[in-house]
Amino acid sequence: MDAGFFRAWMAEIAAVVEIQRDHLTQLDAAIGDADHGINLSRGFGAVQAALEQAETPTPGSVLVLAGTTLISKVGGASGPLYGTAFRHAGKALGDSNEVDLAVLAAGLEAALAGVQKLGAANEGDKTMVDALAPAASAFSKAVAEGASAADALAAVADAARAGAQATIPMQAMKGRASYLGPRSVGHEDPGAASTALIMRALHDVALRRDP
Ligand code: ADP
Ligand code: MG
Repeated sequence: MDAGFFRAWMAEIAAVVEIQRDHLTQLDAAIGDADHGINLSRGFGAVQAALEQAETPTPGSVLVLAGTTLISKVGGASGPLYGTAFRHAGKALGDSNEVDLAVLAAGLEAALAGVQKLGAANEGDKTMVDALAPAASAFSKAVAEGASAADALAAVADAARAGAQATIPMQAMKGRASYLGPRSVGHEDPGAASTALIMRALHDVALRRDP
């Protein structure tokens, strides 16, 4: 997977976030402040603009630029958290022109570590970590078992979606939704839902481009 693959992933995320913007905002309306879709639309739109302006010759440089842009353009909690995730993943990818599945899996683990260091959320706290952590584990497991790219990335996307779904009965312990206490139960966490979209976009781009 080269820099073009990662730019295509960013473009796919921007497109999907646009389509799902109102849905993400509705999820946030139930347990937050109804801006998650708006935040991500602004953020990934800005990432597209930044990628058009700057040279990003390596996979790592694409992700670091995406992360830096999200941190600077998104006001909500999700901007710094996703920004940190992409920056950490980008740094884990290093300076090479091509990355393989194992390196990408390590990148996802680095993204998770970055989010947890910044946000201090554990699995079960009803945040994006509940989608990101199972996705990262599924990826590392698939790579260790020698799965094909298509199978590994399908496992990642499925694990993230199942993780997002599993946030519905949880009570939020971090972020704005935690102010609701037990009233946060019964709703899907918007950040977990958007993480599932981001992981599905990775799978879809890989299938289309045959990495
Ligand atoms: P804000 O909460 O500032 O309005 P967004 O609505 O864009 O920001 O994002 C909310 C999402 O951010 C939540 O659904 C949750 O997944 C995620 N989030 C909030 N706080 C944390 C945290 N400490 N760790 C991980 N994720 C968090
Ligand atoms: Mg919000």
